[in-house]
Amino acid sequence: MQPDNQPTQPAQPHEITIAVCDVCRNWIPVHELRRNARYDIMVCPICHDTNAAGWAPVYEHAVTRKLRARACDIPARNEHGLLPRE
Ligand SMILES: [Zn+2]
Repeated sequence: MQPDNQPTQPAQPHEITIAVCDVCRNWIPVHELRRNARYDIMVCPICHDTNAAGWAPVYEHAVTRKLRARACDIPARNEHGLLPRE
């Protein structure tokens, strides 16, 4: 019989799967990525939140990569002259 003061087993370390943001190319936990259906890309919260008014020009190439690869139409620019975020 085990004594009552026996230490318990430490919890197993929690494994986190990471994946790359299609826009900024940073690796983040996969559960934090969100799918942007319009461009068929996975986007991290920072890229999503900081491009609310439309995709910054520096990101346009990455954002439209899959659409261009499939020869799909690129969305029309919004009132800010930017590609719409979604
Ligand atoms: Zn990102």
